Amino acid sequence: MSGDHHGHHPEPESPAALRARAIESLLVEKGLISTDAIDLIVRAYEQDIGPMNGARVVAKAWTDSAYKDRLLTDGTDAIAELGYGGNQGAEIVVLENTATVHNVVVCTLCSCYPWPVLGLPPSWYKSAPYRSRVVREPRSVLREFGLELGPEVEVRVWDSTAEVRYMVLPERPAGAESLSEPELAALVTRDAMIGVVKVQAPALAR
Ligand code: FE
Repeated sequence: MSGDHHGHHPEPESPAALRARAIESLLVEKGLISTDAIDLIVRAYEQDIGPMNGARVVAKAWTDSAYKDRLLTDGTDAIAELGYGGNQGAEIVVLENTATVHNVVVCTLCSCYPWPVLGLPPSWYKSAPYRSRVVREPRSVLREFGLELGPEVEVRVWDSTAEVRYMVLPERPAGAESLSEPELAALVTRDAMIGVVKVQAPALAR
């Protein structure tokens, strides 16, 4: 990968980001909004609002094999079919997890992430330990997330860039045969689409 892939990283913050930061400090300073409230909003985009787009994509792929083929062939186009996109031209590549191949996503240099389908990255995704360790010792890192993979499973680690972002298509869990597409989407978690956990069977899901 050329250094150019992460050309966005060393650049100064965009005027919009600087403005947002200035407004945030002003609101906090004037007592109009607390940092806790801002954290709550960010957490909603990390955990609920953003990842629901990806969960709908996964549920559709699980129930429509023609859609799944399109998704694995051209992720950006298939995701746009559901109305998600507009990510500054970045391409989204979807990786299928199977009984013998487990994909996990990282951005080793910064925090590139498929925003249109997953929203904002969680803080651990941006942390230096995750970014370095998942490449060197993916099985240990996955174990810490509670995912123990057998020796028969090949682990593939994918390094995101400004141009190519990855999303994992998790395995459809057993015991979910009778569920509707929205019910399936409700089982899919953000972490499963990053590839650090599996989607749990309905009885085990929260
Ligand atoms: Fe990055």
